[in-house]
Amino acid sequence: MKRIAILGSTGSIGTQALNVIRRHRDLFAVEVLCAGSNADLLIKQAIEFEPNAVAIADETKYNMVQEALVPHDIKVFCGMESVADLMEMDSIDMVLASIVGFAGLRPTLRAIEHHKPIALANKETMVVAGEIVTRAAMENHVPILPVDSEHSAIFQSLVGEGGGIDKILLTASGGPFRGFSREQLSKVTLADALKHPNWSMGRKVTIDSASLMNKGLEVIEARWLFSVPADRIQVLVHPQSVVHSMVQYVDGSIKAQLGVPTMETPIQYAFSFPERIESHLPRLSFEQYGQLTFENPDMDTFRCLALAYQAIEKGGNMPCIMNAANEVAVQRFIDGKLSFLQIADFVEEQMVKATFVAQPTLDDLLATDEAVRRGV
Ligand code: NDP
Repeated sequence: MKRIAILGSTGSIGTQALNVIRRHRDLFAVEVLCAGSNADLLIKQAIEFEPNAVAIADETKYNMVQEALVPHDIKVFCGMESVADLMEMDSIDMVLASIVGFAGLRPTLRAIEHHKPIALANKETMVVAGEIVTRAAMENHVPILPVDSEHSAIFQSLVGEGGGIDKILLTASGGPFRGFSREQLSKVTLADALKHPNWSMGRKVTIDSASLMNKGLEVIEARWLFSVPADRIQVLVHPQSVVHSMVQYVDGSIKAQLGVPTMETPIQYAFSFPERIESHLPRLSFEQYGQLTFENPDMDTFRCLALAYQAIEKGGNMPCIMNAANEVAVQRFIDGKLSFLQIADFVEEQMVKATFVAQPTLDDLLATDEAVRRGV
């Protein structure tokens, strides 16, 4: 029985992870649930899955959660520090890092420092502090198992190989605005950006998918997860989202992982690795698709992807600057304070303006994130 702690249990990934656990109660149990502020859902999840402890980051929700869980003998904590502290529990066998954004970094690092294998959905952790996180994982002999579908596909394509990677082919759906001109993008609304053609996800990652920043974050995530430089990670737009990504080897062979677009498959694979276990999920029917297509991304129009390549090439705290600026810009877009095209403008402005640090420590990265957020 693997006892799992879920960081971000109330989100899109967290709830899909609980679907996986619900179907495999003989293999997986919930040890800890952590949420941001959705107390109602956290309470419901805790009553169903009976974890040892829960934490809610929003301290104003503590009394509500605590009172609801008194009859269930579940420990209740609040605040971000408690979320990180819970990662030290000996009884946790694996941590699913599925908090959205920079907020996921500290609890994930704490889990690594306490030797917990990580199932990683929270790509911002790798973008901001890839070098520090991968070093900590190596020092603590902790595996980081990717949950992001593209990275899971790359990981699955690497199983059994001893190196010899030529390049990574990272697929992208292209999002709801694939093929749009800048003129067309100047008129899109929040509601348009939230209509992803293939995936149902949290708001931030959905907007990142529409701007292609999500793919930029994934290039950086792949760079650290697989130790492949960004200039050997090629993004390919594949609107059907069936080929989840591929690895090309030095002999020209390409290995890919395919399947229907659902996050439950990569979540389950990260939980069960190195085993594969049964899944009730629909099987891929090639006839139904007929054609699988691939094209280059339009980085002149979707500038966030180009900015991400620039950030990883520059290195240091630049990906952290870019990530913080993007988190602010996306929130401003949600609040109606920035237009869709202004997201890239804003990110670029911050990348020029913020103080560059070539060899950042964790404290430097925390300070960078704070400074970018404060500067706006
Ligand atoms: P959601 O917005 O749906 O969920 C985010 C989760 O994080 C919620 O449980 C939220 O809690 C919690 N949270 C937010 N802020 C804090 C905080 N300060 N402290 C503790 N918990 C917090 O996001 P997704 O599930 O879509 O995405 C999660 C991560 O996974 C992102 O990094 C995303 O890029 C990545 N990912 C997502 C995919 C998807 O299909 N959704 C695919 C691949 C990667 P609450 O709601 O209670 O406030």
